[in-house]
Amino acid sequence: MSGKVCKGVITMDPIFINVKLGKCDVCNKSVYKVDGIQVDYRIIHEHCFKCACCSQSLQKGDISRDNLLQNEYGLSCFCRDHMLLSTSEKTEQLVKMGRKKRKNHQ
Ligand SMILES: [Zn+2]
Ligand SMILES: [Zn+2]
Repeated sequence: MSGKVCKGVITMDPIFINVKLGKCDVCNKSVYKVDGIQVDYRIIHEHCFKCACCSQSLQKGDISRDNLLQNEYGLSCFCRDHMLLSTSEKTEQLVKMGRKKRKNHQ
């Protein structure tokens, strides 16, 4: 029991595997593990987590989601300034921001 302590030295660099998570619920492009986050059980890009009206980055707890819009346009989050808009006003803004209606989106 007096032997040398064997120090295992790991010389390999960790291999970074960029796993594809699926399609972003906001922009519909592929999301990889490196830039993916999960919001409301939907996978999106970290950079897609912003107000659907003004593109302002959102803080946790500062978000309003619109379930009606989400069914048609994918994850739709709004900042404090825009969460009070009516659904039709939000829809108008979403379309202006280039969001497209989903076909057969569940
Ligand atoms: Zn995205
Ligand atoms: Zn906003």
